[in-house]
Amino acid sequence: MAVEQEMADVHPPEAEDISEFLPETDCGNCGYTSCLEFAEAVLEEETNPHKCPDLDREFADVFAVIVEMNKDPIPYNLMMEQVPCELIEINGPDKDSPVLITCNFQETVRIMKEILEATSTEAFLLPTHTHGYSVDNAVHETMFKAMEIWKAIKDNAVEARVERPTMIIPGLAEKERNSIRQLTRWEVVVGPVSGFLLPLFILNNK
Ligand code: SF4
Repeated sequence: MAVEQEMADVHPPEAEDISEFLPETDCGNCGYTSCLEFAEAVLEEETNPHKCPDLDREFADVFAVIVEMNKDPIPYNLMMEQVPCELIEINGPDKDSPVLITCNFQETVRIMKEILEATSTEAFLLPTHTHGYSVDNAVHETMFKAMEIWKAIKDNAVEARVERPTMIIPGLAEKERNSIRQLTRWEVVVGPVSGFLLPLFILNNK
């Protein structure tokens, strides 16, 4: 008898989270009664982000790429596969580019790279040692540690690569923010829960 393959969620974006990046005026000019309805329709691919006249063109372009990306769950047999904690440069980042902290689970790093590359987002992606746990599991198992983030920053000489010591941590790791800030003395910004929304988050915070 065939054994059904268990799958792990990749935290695809929710309409509620996306609507926070929209003008939130509920003006109806897109043909939907609210920005939330519009976000739902975009995710269902009934419409596209360019139908909102108040949305910045670059923002709408990035949003459209994200909607089309593969968000299939990950097979559990890939769990715990690790990548080295080495700084990854995405799309030729410069000193003003964001430093994105993630885990060292290879599938998370692969997906993050795909998202950032597909949306032409310039960034430094820094996997930190979580024993191959994904971010949500690492936080649950107390493996998403300030000390490991600090070590990865030092080992990769990240401070010499950026103008300001500011990092973006995954929204799933929000509760670790203070401990990371206290240990590293870096500014710690909490990003979205869904990694698919990171490019929009970065554009919004430019
Ligand atoms: S046109 Fe834009 S601002 Fe107006 S309801 Fe639609 S999504 Fe919201």
